[in-house]
Amino acid sequence: MTAPARRGVGDEIPRLRTRVHGWGGGDRAPVTLARAPAADHLQALVADLQGKPSAGAVARGMGRSYGDAAQLTGGLVLDTTQLKRLELDPVGGTVTAQAGVTIGELLTVVVPAGWMVPVVPGTQHVSVGGAIAADIHGKNHGSAGTFGTHVEALGLLTSAGELLELDSARDRERFFATVGGMGLTGVIVWARIRLHNVRGALLSVDTDRVADLDGALAALEAPGGEYRVAWLDLLGGRPGRGVVTRARHVDLPAGAQTARGRATVGARARVPPRWPAGLLRPATVRAHNELRFRLAPRRERGRLEGIGRHMFPLDVLDAWPRLYGRRGLVQYQLAVPTGEEHVLRSVLGELRRSRVPCYLAVLKDFGATNDAPLSFPLRGWTLALDMPRHATGLGGLLDRFDELVAAVGGRVYLAKDSRLRPATLAAMYPRLGEWRRVRDELDSDGLWRSDLGVRTGLIPWRSR
Ligand SMILES: Cc1cc2nc3c(=O)[nH]c(=O)nc-3n(C[C@H](O)[C@H](O)[C@H](O)COP(=O)(O)OP(=O)(O)OC[C@H]3O[C@@H](n4cnc5c(N)ncnc54)[C@H](O)[C@@H]3O)c2cc1C
Repeated sequence: MTAPARRGVGDEIPRLRTRVHGWGGGDRAPVTLARAPAADHLQALVADLQGKPSAGAVARGMGRSYGDAAQLTGGLVLDTTQLKRLELDPVGGTVTAQAGVTIGELLTVVVPAGWMVPVVPGTQHVSVGGAIAADIHGKNHGSAGTFGTHVEALGLLTSAGELLELDSARDRERFFATVGGMGLTGVIVWARIRLHNVRGALLSVDTDRVADLDGALAALEAPGGEYRVAWLDLLGGRPGRGVVTRARHVDLPAGAQTARGRATVGARARVPPRWPAGLLRPATVRAHNELRFRLAPRRERGRLEGIGRHMFPLDVLDAWPRLYGRRGLVQYQLAVPTGEEHVLRSVLGELRRSRVPCYLAVLKDFGATNDAPLSFPLRGWTLALDMPRHATGLGGLLDRFDELVAAVGGRVYLAKDSRLRPATLAAMYPRLGEWRRVRDELDSDGLWRSDLGVRTGLIPWRSR
């Protein structure tokens, strides 16, 4: 389906010269930011760019990718956060949402109607557009796959100014190049998402304390709920000890749902803008981790907890990356196939021997990969590590991790990345050529670019 652009309305969008950065902080990129109030404004704006010289453009959602995926130095950043229309089909179990609707906003509408967003990330503040562009995964990847797996169709605004309707079955190539395509095939304007049937917002949570990485791997594989995650303490005397939770939806009648059963969570505090970096130190985090480990039950079964509290624990503290100070943090998220668990041991060992402190480490299991060439998950394990960007030796350490990961057919998550180089990217994503061919067809004009795309060589650098 193509729709004509409304002439002139694109000019009504104010353009702001500003600086933006990823969720991990760090250097701010100078950009021109245009916040489209509605989809037809966005379409008209892109149509107006036709044939004119420009430094390129990229879509931006909630800015929750950690690195430089949603920015383009010197270019146009199309802010999609005002595209907020959504329509629930409560009988068919689908929701059609515009790109700027967040996962939290979806949950607020669909859960009371008896439906669940089938894949949610670790924060509710992610837009539908960003969720598809990064093909996000949740704690239930083993059973549910990625977010893109549940998208039936999406509206893609191309560099030619056309709004295409891409059906997941009929337009497989263009659809799956867009799912996980990091905004480089065009702007996702809307999506129709299949929902999962639930009764209420309560989860039943099983918890186990584990002594080390092997304990965590075993607990993640044990029978139990589909939402599985391990928090690991990498600063304590026993590195790799942690807490594993496995949660499932409970089928309680409406009357039995309690106030705890909320689908989202509110921020209880906000980190002020000029938080001194020195307050977050290995000693303070070590003490916090000790407390967190000891307060967790050794073994607990069936505790009832709301979706919001369980899924989005970090959202209770607004602007938490400020804890890391002005330079921010790097999150390194790797995936390695089943059978290559030795890489996880090597990574944790090398991290421990280095002087780089890791303040948060999260391990999850992954199920099968999907049809999207740039989708991150592959059957095996994923480990996410948060480290201060200014830590001495961080760059060399992560280069070494890249080698270990690539050598076993693993990869690094582009939505978290701020440092991957072209050769490493090509080694980690073997279907890159296939993706590039479809992308080039969709964007023959070469409009869509991002700092991530240029840095990693996802797209060739060329001036228009
Ligand atoms: C606390 C926290 C926890 C997280 N947990 C998880 C997790 O469990 N699993 C997971 O997979 N990810 C997780 N993430 C990462 C996050 O889900 C992704 O980075 C997601 O892409 C962010 O969405 P956004 O709306 O903020 O997009 P942005 O960060 O603004 O953009 C991300 C990418 O999407 C593109 N994009 C955004 N909107 C559009 C659009 N309308 N059309 C086309 N392209 C678009 C951008 O160009 C960019 O390439 C987490 C992030 C945080 C901060």
